[in-house]
Amino acid sequence: MTTNAVTMEKLVALCKARGIIFPGSEIYGGMGNTWDYGPVGVEIKNNIKRAWWKRFVTESENSYGVDAAILMNSRVWEASGHTTSFSDPKMDCKSCKTRHRADNLIENFSKGTVDPDTMSNDEMEKYIEEHHVKCPVCGNFNWTNIRTFNLMFETSRGVTDESQNKIYLRPETAQGEFVNFLNVQRTTRAKVPFGIAQIGKAFRNEITPGNFIFRTIEFEQMEHQWFCKAGTDEDYYRQFKQKALTFLLDLGFKEEHLRFHDHEKLAHYAKEACDIQYLYPMGWQELNGIHNRTDYDLTRHQEYSGKTLTYVDPVNSERFIPYVIEYSIGADRLMLAVLSEAYEEEELEGGDVRNVMHFHPALAAYKAAVLPLQKNLAPHARELLAKLKKHFSVSYDEAGSIGKRYRRQDEIGTPFCVTVDFDTLENGTVTVRDRDTMSQIRLSENELIDFLREKCAF
Ligand code: ATP
Repeated sequence: MTTNAVTMEKLVALCKARGIIFPGSEIYGGMGNTWDYGPVGVEIKNNIKRAWWKRFVTESENSYGVDAAILMNSRVWEASGHTTSFSDPKMDCKSCKTRHRADNLIENFSKGTVDPDTMSNDEMEKYIEEHHVKCPVCGNFNWTNIRTFNLMFETSRGVTDESQNKIYLRPETAQGEFVNFLNVQRTTRAKVPFGIAQIGKAFRNEITPGNFIFRTIEFEQMEHQWFCKAGTDEDYYRQFKQKALTFLLDLGFKEEHLRFHDHEKLAHYAKEACDIQYLYPMGWQELNGIHNRTDYDLTRHQEYSGKTLTYVDPVNSERFIPYVIEYSIGADRLMLAVLSEAYEEEELEGGDVRNVMHFHPALAAYKAAVLPLQKNLAPHARELLAKLKKHFSVSYDEAGSIGKRYRRQDEIGTPFCVTVDFDTLENGTVTVRDRDTMSQIRLSENELIDFLREKCAF
């Protein structure tokens, strides 16, 4: 399997050392596959979400945002089909008592040449039997049959633990957009086609979480549902595939690290579906999904809620239930892809190696770092810092040699280092060093804000 040069171990170590991502509940020995974003990481993740929101909501002509509740009426999950069919095929190893997903076992065993999504449970069992697929933990071949396992986390509301009080942590944000379809349409007077977007937490009791923040039990999704008329859906599906890809390319992803993967086996409601896969350190994996969901969601919610969810065309009074093109991407999966893509160990003249994160400047935690050349220049540097902080997230560092301070900023991907030196006191100019080229220019302090604004725009 082709892999990126960066390994997951290196990324995890860098993230921990530089305040990007820490293991969850670390002082208690951790809690498997939960992660906490640190001071640098939270800025990067917020910037990712901001860039996505700008592209898919603010800049979009007819898309609107919502922020729906995580806890929803349980009927929502009956209507969506999650209570009955949101499950993974699990197999237990009877020797070492570990739990695995049958589809993952086949995918890994066949090195991606067999697509388990096209197989029934019986076919997967047969494949594992015939190919003698062994447990990746203990190496034995001693499996239970496949059993399905619902991925939703249950909890109960109120003080009594009765079954009618059972509620779920949402396993996806999409239903918050569907149930608010008419609220949004009426309050914005939007005409079909229009979009509803949301960014928020989702929870899945994954059988095999792992690969750092790639698959976790708590994660954030960025989802956009495009409501359109049947007949226009295929065209919009194609447009959203392209829009999703362009977004990634504009963030600086290399084209050869991205590919479409069309689904052969479709969910019963889907007309067309594909993923965009990214070449992660562990190989090609799904980064986001695009689905033509037909009128399934709104029809089901109409049926289960008893509320009419038809749209009335203001021009010809035609009534119809719109089709939905869904575009869904995990903020954390995108974060992992951004980290992998940005990472470089650059060999310098003289044999030195510098670790540098080549983030798109719009995603970098700090747009600039202010560095006084010497400690006695600190008061002036702090004045400049206060000015810049009104406009951008900016870091400050006065400890150690200037070379070491540059390296620290390179490691967290700060695109510009602004050095205050003795000339600054004389003529009001500073040195601005570019992270990627390491070249330097001098700018007046007044030019700096416009310079940074232009370079860090998305
Ligand atoms: P997978 O096949 O990897 O389990 P999925 O097809 O179930 O993913 P969707 O239900 O389509 O994923 O969810 C949309 C997006 O949400 C995914 O493309 C991914 O970016 C993100 N996502 C899904 N599950 C997880 C998870 N457990 N951890 C982190 N991100 C996730």
